[in-house]
Amino acid sequence: MGEDEFDTRVVALIMALRAAGIVDKHVLGALERIPRDHFVTREFDNRAYENRALPIACGQTISQPFVVAMMTEALCLTPRAKVLEIGTGSGYQTAILSILARRVYTIERYRTLQAEAEARFDRLRLRNIVTRLGDGMLGWPEQGDFDRILVTAGTPECPPALLAQLREGGLLVAPIGPPEQQFVTVFRRDGDEFHQRQIAPVRFVPLIAGIARTL
Ligand code: SAH
Repeated sequence: MGEDEFDTRVVALIMALRAAGIVDKHVLGALERIPRDHFVTREFDNRAYENRALPIACGQTISQPFVVAMMTEALCLTPRAKVLEIGTGSGYQTAILSILARRVYTIERYRTLQAEAEARFDRLRLRNIVTRLGDGMLGWPEQGDFDRILVTAGTPECPPALLAQLREGGLLVAPIGPPEQQFVTVFRRDGDEFHQRQIAPVRFVPLIAGIARTL
């Protein structure tokens, strides 16, 4: 694939995201900069820049670019933000966060996905990402509190440990709802209270407790 063809696909994707309502220039810039073809399996190489979710290893999915952009926009990142992400998957969303935040801590329950994502971060020289194999429902207490937390797997309720690791005034974004459909929900911490706002319907693979027994 030539450079020009690559550029055309990226430009078309960014235009599609703008048409779908993404306005944050920094978010659009990050999606323009991170090569999504590095994050999909070879089989789907030719579809990497379509605005669609695609299958990855371990029966999981790389999120649709629009959903990545929408959730990133909802996080209102600043360059100083310390971010926790639950559900590394391909690492694509992590890479987008790493462009816009100071440091990203990301947790995945499949060893294969964690290892592959880490190799991608190395290749792209994204040096402000720390990965961990673990149960993201427990958060990362040694590194808390976080300015921002992003959950990229669907769950009926936000795990309490994650809310507990959010700093005062911080934002947590998660797909909340039953397996068939969730709503991207923004939680803002105000003392011991959490103000909630629903943004858009989505469908994510489920958040599952514990480290995966299979690779
Ligand atoms: N942001 C990812 C989305 C991957 S799908 C991307 O764009 O590629 C969601 C991921 O969450 C899956 O890889 C799944 O294994 C992971 N996951 C589900 N429950 C988890 C848990 N309790 N802790 C950590 N990761 C989890």
